[in-house]
Amino acid sequence: MKDECGVAGIALDGGSVSYRLFLALYALQHRGQESAGIATWDGNSIRSFKEMGLVSEVFNEGVLEWLGGRIGIGHVRYSTSGGSFPENSQPFTVKFKDGMLAIAHNGNLINTGKLRRHLEKLGATFVSTTDTEVIAYLLVKELLRRDPVDAIRAVMRQLEGSYSLTILINDILIGVRDPLGIKPLVLGKLEDGYIIASESVAIDVLDGELIRDVEPGELVMIKDGEPETYRLVRREGTAHCVFEYIYFARPDSLMNGHLVYDIRKRIGEKLFIEHPVDGDLVSPVPDSGVTFAIGYAAASGIPYLEGLIKNRYLGRTFIMPHQEMREVSVRLKLNVVRPNVENKRVILVDDSIVRGTTSRRIVDYLRSGGAREVHMRIGSPPIIAPCYLGINMSTRDELIASNRSVDQIRDALNLDSIGYISIDGLIEAVGERGEDLCLGCLTGIYPLEIPGERCIVRQMKLTQF
Ligand code: SF4
Repeated sequence: MKDECGVAGIALDGGSVSYRLFLALYALQHRGQESAGIATWDGNSIRSFKEMGLVSEVFNEGVLEWLGGRIGIGHVRYSTSGGSFPENSQPFTVKFKDGMLAIAHNGNLINTGKLRRHLEKLGATFVSTTDTEVIAYLLVKELLRRDPVDAIRAVMRQLEGSYSLTILINDILIGVRDPLGIKPLVLGKLEDGYIIASESVAIDVLDGELIRDVEPGELVMIKDGEPETYRLVRREGTAHCVFEYIYFARPDSLMNGHLVYDIRKRIGEKLFIEHPVDGDLVSPVPDSGVTFAIGYAAASGIPYLEGLIKNRYLGRTFIMPHQEMREVSVRLKLNVVRPNVENKRVILVDDSIVRGTTSRRIVDYLRSGGAREVHMRIGSPPIIAPCYLGINMSTRDELIASNRSVDQIRDALNLDSIGYISIDGLIEAVGERGEDLCLGCLTGIYPLEIPGERCIVRQMKLTQF
């Protein structure tokens, strides 16, 4: 499972916005490591710079200086739709009759194909394979006859899927969250302006103050210094992606009113209640299992001790050319702390299991390091179905839990025991109503109409115009 994307938008009262956007993207780097980009309004047009690579690799002082202007948006990407090509990196910019537009998107549309065909019939020529470009062209079409708020409302009527967007229309900054609030988006105050971003950590890094989450179906517009908000959708319920809480978001992020760290710790505590086991140490799979393991250790009274240490200096994951090298890759990333595990009963805690290949290697690695027993505890219920809403996840065939029982998974991973948090336990730990969460990949029931899948479509009404 890969992270998806992170978006940011900043409007300052004056000065240059590019350095602040750079820092905000740095804080959101965990959401996408494939490409990064910034677009700013320089007073006459939109300047944009985007390349493949990490934020620190893409930008330098010269580029940030060139990206002048007090207002702009930024994006970090891991491809969910479209491929991993430079032309698919964002923000995506378009010229139109009344100026320029730049758009950055986190999420995934379900009806991109249909919308793309419709636009092509009207004469649109696409340069990328992303659904973000589709949103950009729909918006340009509407902007020719409506003001920005009504234009976005008209576009939202056509979009099906998940989308948290930051948009620059000349010198206007806009943030939009999809009607079900599947992906996160927050609004913050800076000393000299405002920020809209995927996660509150982007506000923290700029010493700003979180104002609140952008509501599902809400548009926030910063035009003349102050934010104006518009509820474009009347909704009955939300569908917050539960994997934001389990894995994607940083633990220090405040999201939908929760500190992600607290949720993960509570999941760890519940895991012990649901799946207690005798052991000598509780060890996380670093870093994703850390907070769950802290919760499990606290609830069980078993010492928290690291059995594995992560090499933090590997940089971007690279493709190992040979099988032999791939086998080595897990040892490159993780090293067993032999004295901590030798002849011990290890309770290994991780956030989730997707294909199971990495988990199996880690278990074998712990056993070869001398662990007497290895018990695994998992902070998500079994992933049984793919995600269509913004996460790059394996197909059903590749998911270890899609056609195996828990006992079969235990055997496949060479474990003494395995325990997944239950769906009810997860919902309780999150602290939201189950019907306000997207649990699609865990239940196989999705909150939007997805062809060939079971769905309980959440009702929502776009406000009239
Ligand atoms: S299907 Fe799973 S990963 Fe995808 S949005 Fe829903 S909860 Fe998140």
